[in-house]
Amino acid sequence: MARMIIEVRDLVVGYGAATALDGVSLDVAEGEMVALIGPNGAGKSTLVNTLCGILAARRGRVRVTGDLALVPEGRHLFAPLTVDDNLRLGAWRRRDRDTAHIYTLLPELGRLRDRPAGRLSGGEQQMVALGRALMSRPDVLVIDEMSLGLAPRVVASLAAHLRDRNAADGLAVLLIEQNARLALDLCSRAYVLEAGRVVAAGASAELAGSPQVAAAYLGLE
Ligand code: ATP
Repeated sequence: MARMIIEVRDLVVGYGAATALDGVSLDVAEGEMVALIGPNGAGKSTLVNTLCGILAARRGRVRVTGDLALVPEGRHLFAPLTVDDNLRLGAWRRRDRDTAHIYTLLPELGRLRDRPAGRLSGGEQQMVALGRALMSRPDVLVIDEMSLGLAPRVVASLAAHLRDRNAADGLAVLLIEQNARLALDLCSRAYVLEAGRVVAAGASAELAGSPQVAAAYLGLE
């Protein structure tokens, strides 16, 4: 059986009297691409923050076996710094801060390397955020709302890079997306989170074929 890289069990997380995650269980195996979809307020950001150790579990547990890197919602680049410097910040824990391999993996970034990140388009910035996360040579990427506000062509190119890294290096991915079509296309399995609970989970093809998921998330009747 594949080894789990992310294991979430019966997780309960709240803010004051409010419960944001109410008994969530979720796994990502080594080399697996898994999607988490759900509407605004479902608890997706709360899960990301708990995975990264920013929020504490009230009950249940989170175990990450391996190195996790986050591609955060909104990218959080340092606008005045160049692309190359932003990439280097992704390797702050490593001695090896060589960005050359990132320009090989993401050739679009090569011609932008000396530009301030704040001058780039949204899609270019998302590419930098992905490159920065890859700098630490992680075992698993948690990607929060990668496609938000980006043109379909740009989203397709980001998705292609993720597929390549998964196929070539066995990079595992937990993709947290409001764009359910993208998430289900890219990932082999998915979880649907609504109001702090997993209400459906399974193979992406099966979920995409379920009338409830199709109606609520794919815009199909
Ligand atoms: P979005 O896509 O809008 O970011 P989400 O799925 O990420 O939504 P969360 O942000 O995790 O959802 O929110 C889950 C629930 O917790 C919501 O009901 C939200 O109102 C509540 N919540 C989130 N952050 C806080 C906070 N700091 N204090 C109180 N309640 C919060």
